[in-house]
Amino acid sequence: MNVAQWLASSAHLHPQAPALLTGTTVQADYATFARRAAAIGAGLMRDYGIQPGDRVALFASNCTEYLECIYAVWWIGAVAIPINAKLHGREAAWICDNAGARLAFVDDDSRDALVQVEEDLPTGMQMLSIDSETYRELQHGEPMSLVPLPREDNDLAWLFYTSGTTGRPKGVMLSHGNLVAMSMCYLADVDQVHQTDAILYAAPISHGAGLYNFIHVRMAARHVVPESQGFEPDEVLELGKQLGDVAMFAAPTMVRRLVDAAKKRGESGEGIRTIVYGGGPMYLADIRDAIATMGQRFVQIYGQGESPMTITSLPRAFHADVDHPRYLERLASVGPAQSVMEVRITDADGKPLPVGETGEVEAKGPAVMLGYWNNDKANAETLKDGWLRTGDVGRLDEDGFLTLSDRSKDVIISGGTNIYPREVEEALLTHPAVREVSAIGVAEPDWGEVVVACVVLEPGAAADDAALDAHCLANIARFKRPKRYVYLDALPKNNYGKVLKTELREMMKA
Ligand code: AMP
Repeated sequence: MNVAQWLASSAHLHPQAPALLTGTTVQADYATFARRAAAIGAGLMRDYGIQPGDRVALFASNCTEYLECIYAVWWIGAVAIPINAKLHGREAAWICDNAGARLAFVDDDSRDALVQVEEDLPTGMQMLSIDSETYRELQHGEPMSLVPLPREDNDLAWLFYTSGTTGRPKGVMLSHGNLVAMSMCYLADVDQVHQTDAILYAAPISHGAGLYNFIHVRMAARHVVPESQGFEPDEVLELGKQLGDVAMFAAPTMVRRLVDAAKKRGESGEGIRTIVYGGGPMYLADIRDAIATMGQRFVQIYGQGESPMTITSLPRAFHADVDHPRYLERLASVGPAQSVMEVRITDADGKPLPVGETGEVEAKGPAVMLGYWNNDKANAETLKDGWLRTGDVGRLDEDGFLTLSDRSKDVIISGGTNIYPREVEEALLTHPAVREVSAIGVAEPDWGEVVVACVVLEPGAAADDAALDAHCLANIARFKRPKRYVYLDALPKNNYGKVLKTELREMMKA
């Protein structure tokens, strides 16, 4: 099935339902949204020679046109490559070249960024700016009917470039079938969706937030791009009140900023029904604070580009089940496997481990990617008998709840013992002076590696190694406590808000 079928269907069933909004202003209903996608798709084939299977990049900030363009690509059976607008032109050009993009949708800003690195772009790649008159003419052109897919579920829909916290990003091949499986899991494991809902894109549509468009198109709900085109906590809180029934994806750092803003305003996020968080560790102290401030609006997901948004989930009910004897343990977990997925833990030789033991997390099911684009070596390393090796370390409990420790490459080996940085971070974050922390391993002759805590203090707090050390001694095993504290103004993060431990390790070496 072509996912664009869902747009066609919503246009038939709910033609006048509001579809695309900027802030609270409706830009298009479902009939208009689908007609534009069909007309732009026709234009891509007629004027730009794009054929089914061709790759078309999208390199632009969040805007409602983004959704028109991405559905135009699927309407004609082509493949979308959404690229984070915050990437440098050179990084975006590298992705276009790696994917062999034949055309890139851009806005005027991102076009300038690409023009400056023209020599890095694939030969003959065309650019079409959504800010141009040409684009507006295409929107109103002659629509065409939806192109059926030759291989149905296995046809490539989305080339999802990993965030690349180490090395070059890899192109994850997501099929139409993967995206449908992911969307069905949203209904089963994350949240209900109704036509009156509003999905708010406060994080890049090119990444996790954008993956939630499908089920909201299917249910003919509202798609809302904030006027700021990004994440402004006050704007989000206002939009919640104005739109009502809002659902949104937020990385843990965004949740923190939203909670801070809600506290300042004496609000609890009225009108925001669901905040789906994931994409990085959510510390227990932070989610408890978030629930205390904003109430039961939270659902956690754990996934990765290779199995998008769909490995495990911790639904709302487990955030609310405070009387359960293992409530806090569960709240610190990423929950059980989503409906279409199996999860297991394996040892260094790939052998499954029993309940309670820590090892690499592996996932299997219809959300798992077809493979990496043109990268046999990475495919051989990552996919085995249908199992996806996630590179994450964790353990399962007897009820199937998965608790993640860290990325395997971030585990610190000190004196031959594994230390999971997340445990050290969780402990330090409960100290009132600590705002953010990242624990890393630094080479040391006696121990192999020692734990170094990179700490960002709360405004006005003073650095105090002894106090932090005493706090660790009171909360975690002696051998896990940091041998050194380094105080920073901010932690280095990538464009998705993930802490760059690689960069911290480099800093410590220097
Ligand atoms: P990406 O492919 O860029 O979405 O990154 C996926 C990685 O983010 C996963 O392999 C995990 O290491 C991390 N991640 C995703 N969701 C969670 C979560 N809920 N808790 C902790 N880490 C997560």
